[in-house]
Order: sequence, then structure tokens, then C-alpha cells
Amino acid sequence: MQADEYRHKGARRRLVETLRRKGIKDEAVLAAIGAIPRHWFLDSAFEVQAYEDKAFPIGNEQTISQPYTVAYQTALLDVQKREKILEVGTGSGYQAVVLAALGARVFTVERQEALFHKTQQLIERLKVTNIRCYLRDGYKGIAELAPFDKILVTAGANSVPEQLQEQLRIGGKLVVPIGEKTQEMYCIERLSEHEFEAKVFGKFQFVPFLEGLERFKK
Ligand code: SAH
Repeated sequence: MQADEYRHKGARRRLVETLRRKGIKDEAVLAAIGAIPRHWFLDSAFEVQAYEDKAFPIGNEQTISQPYTVAYQTALLDVQKREKILEVGTGSGYQAVVLAALGARVFTVERQEALFHKTQQLIERLKVTNIRCYLRDGYKGIAELAPFDKILVTAGANSVPEQLQEQLRIGGKLVVPIGEKTQEMYCIERLSEHEFEAKVFGKFQFVPFLEGLERFKK
């Protein structure tokens, strides 16, 4: 793994200022982004650009979300220490590590076998102990670990994933981008056994939420 050098730290401080200018106000989220070396989650080819506010390819046709998007979703989720959080779409692992840095217990699922293995190994090497990785179809969530305090979907869904809503505790929140080409950010709170309240926020662009697992390509 590359070192975390002075220049990376400087670039991170500038990224945090950019996020502040764009309207992110949650200080805990900004501190987490300021502390986590994003270049560890990208191919070394992107090292110099790792602290631009942009999404980048991580292989297997997937992307690491733009820092603004990570900050926005994390702020909406309103993470509290020790909360049990399900993340759907592990990808590079960056978002999971941001949630872990906020003190959550993170359960993250990825449908692509290659990405699952690569990221699980990275998380082990980083010695982040409050993240568990699963190779699963995120549409189904993780029924045996439910209910979750919070659920975060980091791929664009066509409609509200009902099985995920059902895995929220009462009072819990589901943050999910919904839409085909571009998505609106939904924050859905479970008010009671059968009542959910949705609030809709700004427009974003995500890779698609796909059903089923994808095994290693031969
Ligand atoms: N949170 C990631 C963003 C990755 S992009 C990060 O910080 O890097 C979204 C990820 O969702 C991709 O890796 C994609 O393979 C995964 N994905 C899409 N549909 C899924 C599903 N049904 N179950 C689990 N993961 C899914």
C-alpha cells in the first residue's frame, strides 16, 4: 500500500474545503473524509486525482462514488456510534470505511465476486475491525442480521427496495438513490410496523442496482 504522505493530507484538506463550499455541513462526516486516505481505495493510476471531487473507475465496470455523494448520503443517514448499518454496494470499500470511522458497526454486501474479494482483503489489511463483508445480492439485504438502524444503498434503484425497508428497525432510516438514468436521493424513515415516510433530496448519478450475483469472469 502507498504511504499516506504530507501531500495527500494537504489534498484532503482542500477536498474538505470543497465539500464545505458545496454545502456539506456535518462536521463529523467532514472529519472522517479528512482523515481517510482515499487513494488507498483507487488504482495507483488515479493516485494524483484521488482527492478531486470525482467518481473514478474501480474495475468491473464500477466506480468509487464522488466524495460529495459519499458525504451527502452519510450526512442524511445521521450515523450514531455503535449503530448497526447495512451498506448495499461495497465497491471499493471507501464508503464502508467512512461509516466505520463514525463509529458504526458496518455490514456491507457486494454482488460482484471479484470486487468482494479484493475489497475484503483491503479492509483486512487496513485493520478496520468494525466492517463485515458479504458476497450477497443486496436486494435481499441480510435477513438473519435484521433489523438494522440504518441502511445505505450506493447503487441506483428503479423503485424503493421493499425487502430492505422491511429490515429497518422502527425509527430506522434507509437512504437510497431512485431513478433510471439519474436518481433522486430518498431518505425513508420507518415510523411503525407498516408506516414509512419518504423525503426526497437532490439529483445524483449512480451505477445501476442489479439483481443476482456476478461470479468471477473466466
Ligand atoms: N460504496 C461504493 C460505491 C460502489 S458503486 C464505494 O464506496 O466505492 C456501487 C456498487 O454496488 C458496485 O460495486 C456494484 O457492483 C454494487 N451493486 C449493484 N447492485 C448490487 C446488489 N444487488 N447487491 C450488492 N451490490 C450491488
